[in-house]
Amino acid sequence: MRAVESFVAGRWAAGADGRPVHDAVTGAVIASVSSAGIDLGVAHTHGRAVAGPALRELTFHERAAILRAVGKMVLADTDELYALSYSTGATRSDSSIDIDGGAGALLAYSGIGRRELPNQKVWIDGVVQGLSRDGSFVGQHIITPRHGVALQINAFNFPMWGMLEKFASAFLAGVPSIVKPATPTAYVTEAVVRKIIDSDLLPEGALQFVAGSIDGLIDVLDEQDTLSFTGSAATARVLRGNAAVLDRGVRFSAETDSLNAAVLAPAAGPDTPEFGLFLDEVISEMTVKAGQKCTAIRRVIVPAAHADAVEEALVERMRDITVGDPSAPDTDMGALVGISQREDVRAAVGRVGGTTVLDTCQFEGVDPERGAFMAPTLLRADDAATSLAHVVEPFGPVATLMSYATLDEAVGLVAKGRGSLVASVYGPDLDEAAAVTLGIAPHHGRVHTIDASSAAASTGHGSPLPQLVHGGPGRAGGGEELGGLRSVLHYMQRTAVQGSPDLLTTVTGTWVEGAARREKGHPFTLHFDELEVGDCLDTEPRVITLEDIEHFAHFTGDLFYAHMDEEAAKASPIFEGRVAHGYLVLSMAAGLFVWPDPGPVLANYGVDNLRFATPTYPGTEIRVIFTCKEKSLRAGAGYGEVRWDTKVVDQDDNLLASYDVLTMVAERGDAT
Ligand code: NAP
Repeated sequence: MRAVESFVAGRWAAGADGRPVHDAVTGAVIASVSSAGIDLGVAHTHGRAVAGPALRELTFHERAAILRAVGKMVLADTDELYALSYSTGATRSDSSIDIDGGAGALLAYSGIGRRELPNQKVWIDGVVQGLSRDGSFVGQHIITPRHGVALQINAFNFPMWGMLEKFASAFLAGVPSIVKPATPTAYVTEAVVRKIIDSDLLPEGALQFVAGSIDGLIDVLDEQDTLSFTGSAATARVLRGNAAVLDRGVRFSAETDSLNAAVLAPAAGPDTPEFGLFLDEVISEMTVKAGQKCTAIRRVIVPAAHADAVEEALVERMRDITVGDPSAPDTDMGALVGISQREDVRAAVGRVGGTTVLDTCQFEGVDPERGAFMAPTLLRADDAATSLAHVVEPFGPVATLMSYATLDEAVGLVAKGRGSLVASVYGPDLDEAAAVTLGIAPHHGRVHTIDASSAAASTGHGSPLPQLVHGGPGRAGGGEELGGLRSVLHYMQRTAVQGSPDLLTTVTGTWVEGAARREKGHPFTLHFDELEVGDCLDTEPRVITLEDIEHFAHFTGDLFYAHMDEEAAKASPIFEGRVAHGYLVLSMAAGLFVWPDPGPVLANYGVDNLRFATPTYPGTEIRVIFTCKEKSLRAGAGYGEVRWDTKVVDQDDNLLASYDVLTMVAERGDAT
């Protein structure tokens, strides 16, 4: 028997008197887990003192690049991880969610970081708020990494994905992780942590791992630390009541159990494609990971008129499910994680009650009593309104069928789960589907609404996606994981900074209106590394004439009356007469600020935040004030992105148009 080791402060060590862990298929003891005797307080100080400062030295893009390297490294050789995972009862396709899905989460967060965050250490939230008439006192929200650790407690069912998706967000945020896996599958998490540590890709202390109890660790957390939990509602309740959370202000986030529903809409009768698609989804959710998925469909809610047809069709499909050795290629469903988990599920089935429709099957090539095998089980509620299926979670291959008479009743039944991670709605009628979707949305973190047009491309009811929220209100824990940058925010602090425009420019690295500007030659002649925020150009003026407007109108075909018809323009509530096209103003502005010769500016890839502030009438003299606002280097690309604050003003300095011009600017030596 092998002792699972913890990795604390750069050292692997096993705790004393380990708790035995059993192979889900054979029942044999395969490992032991304990943290007894390991000084967990050191994990906290090591993470904070060594890893935190090193991570905060990196920009978001640098952290994203490391996540990408780690994800690719994990994916490069997954054989050992797949082999190990069979002992958890998982089939190969179950494990692909865990292994490839986990590494995929690292890659996805790397992409999110590179695309959606600047290559900076500070993340700016929202726009600058003017706080004084003269513009000398302004406010700006900034987001910075907290100076603590992220203690992440995971459930047994996804020992890799559960850990990697949390680690990815914390790492991108710049916060070190201490990972605590569930004991029954800790040996799988240990294997992937070892691979990552051995790769030397991470800064020292950015990832630590504790197998076994973390009591001593929770005791030292404080307001800079984050405690993220995935598991049962019962454990979440215990943790939420811990002094660390209640007294010391540790930020706590929970993803807990969830009695997810699937609703068949009234129009989805047995002769519609949606009927079959609905059945496929229910069967898949009962059998993937042997139903040990937080997102699994537990409540199958169907129109009373179709309930018997649904039951019959589900039973027919359930009889085709092969349950047995997870490593055999023909197996559809493997084992639960252990015998005690199976006992828990059986007990929960007894508490749910109702009528048992089917709870037997043939087990292929295994001894179902030595391993934690269980037949897929379909129950039917005797009374949908009072069924305990809305309350009790059998965390296994179990679902309860129930029926409704009206759409309102269907929505009411779904809401009886008191907050869930996800629900599916299947139906061909858009109005019905939209009514159910809107009715149940406040009770869920995600709603998956499918008809025949989207089914083939659907990622499925049970698959949380990095870019979409995973979490839900109430019973589901109230947390929000994944969802792109939303989960990164869990590990960071939002701060409103007030001060002068120059102070905010210095703090954020982004030029703020009112801060100092300097003219040091045409900024388009400067390379990325020579440019500084605040470098600017105040252009020569140019008068817009009626002939310009005529020419532009006929050249582009934009003959809108406000540009062409003096009387009609005057009659409008907006204009005093013929007015220049906004795009003419923009085009002439570009003519004023661009540098014509080849140089460091490679391309203009768009504009942001465009507003036409005042109509521009013929005879107006326009000029442009063009200021380098923000720089973000594309590491290794030879160029960076530069955002230019662009203001078009008239002869009296009245604002006509404002926008950000987005360009790619070469680093020195890479100019074309
Ligand atoms: P669990 O018994 O609540 O355990 C979850 C984690 O909490 C494990 O790592 C466990 O460690 C740890 N733990 C237990 N008591 C603790 C305590 N007093 N202090 C600190 N940590 C403690 O849940 P599970 O059996 O692993 O997982 C099944 C449940 O998780 C189901 O209810 C399922 O719905 C839920 N789940 C939810 C999600 C989601 O995203 N919402 C995802 C997966 C699973 P030990 O194993 O060492 O006790």
